[in-house]
Amino acid sequence: MNFEQELIGLLGGPEIKKDEPMARHTSWKVGGAADYFLVPRKREQLPALASLCKEYEVPLTVIGNGTNLLVREGGLRGLVIKLGPAFQYIDREGLKLRVGAGTSLPHLVSGAVAGGLAGLEPLGGIPGTVGGALIMNAGAFGTYIGELVEEVMLVDTAGEAGELRLLTREECGFKYRQSNLARQGIISEVLLQLREGDPVSLGRRAREYQEERLRRHPRQPSAGSVFKNPPGSPAGRLIEAAGGKGLQVGGAQVSPQHANFIVNRGGATAGDILALMAKVQGLVKEKFNLELQPEVQIIGEEV
Ligand SMILES: Cc1cc2nc3c(=O)[nH]c(=O)nc-3n(C[C@H](O)[C@H](O)[C@H](O)COP(=O)(O)OP(=O)(O)OC[C@H]3O[C@@H](n4cnc5c(N)ncnc54)[C@H](O)[C@@H]3O)c2cc1C
Repeated sequence: MNFEQELIGLLGGPEIKKDEPMARHTSWKVGGAADYFLVPRKREQLPALASLCKEYEVPLTVIGNGTNLLVREGGLRGLVIKLGPAFQYIDREGLKLRVGAGTSLPHLVSGAVAGGLAGLEPLGGIPGTVGGALIMNAGAFGTYIGELVEEVMLVDTAGEAGELRLLTREECGFKYRQSNLARQGIISEVLLQLREGDPVSLGRRAREYQEERLRRHPRQPSAGSVFKNPPGSPAGRLIEAAGGKGLQVGGAQVSPQHANFIVNRGGATAGDILALMAKVQGLVKEKFNLELQPEVQIIGEEV
């Protein structure tokens, strides 16, 4: 048996797509094909998939909504797993929520607000999944998801592939737009500790945050902020001051509305976006002697 035969044996054929364009699964709408792509139908399939990849030394990539991903045009070798409906659930335990990693943040936030649970309101407009948010320690308006984490459940892909592990918040190593979760495995669930609040005032606050976001952010396809903010200075302001706003390579443009967003104006390639990122980094380096670090995750092979 080879990897593909075992994969089909494990899941049944129709779930597995071959040469699936990642442009269909990223908010930038760019990116080459994944060798194998699937959305697991059952939670129990994850451990078996992790150990199969380990056994055959097949690279494994997990994605959520692809809202922080730049996949190069050469695509992704091995297996890409997207967490879908089997990982979308929210169970309440008093002031805690046990949440599946495929749950979208906007859905989680509106559920928490309606149930009178406070803490997540500023994050309601972030378009990713909970799993992607934990990897990135996603945040907005001074709140980060890591602050609310009590424990994270993941399926090991590094050591004992396929084993379930529980990590405390301290073990997740949350910092500004990073955690050490990516190296450890596939996040399947999180337990969040929230506070009691009044649904009406929480709802009002959540709407205010959302309106502020709609006012600031461009509507064209993007991956949100491209670069991390260097200490003390928002990347967008530095890029604008260095003359980067509106700059274009192919179909990619530094948004005239928000300089830390690169938008796909139609027909952009990953190469256009990477070339534009390099130009922006060059401008900021020349003007401020600062090296902007990408916030977006750049994966996949060159063509
Ligand atoms: C319009 C727009 C606005 C945005 N605004 C914000 C903002 O205000 N604040 C902010 O922090 N971000 C923002 N983002 C970026 C993005 O939405 C967040 O980083 C989000 O948390 C990513 O989630 P995702 O499910 O899309 O992850 P993906 O992009 O699919 O993946 C991101 C990384 O996480 C890994 N990953 C995903 N799921 C799992 C899992 N279950 N287990 C293991 N690894 C996993 C992937 O391999 C990848 O390395 C914005 C993006 C857009 C398009």
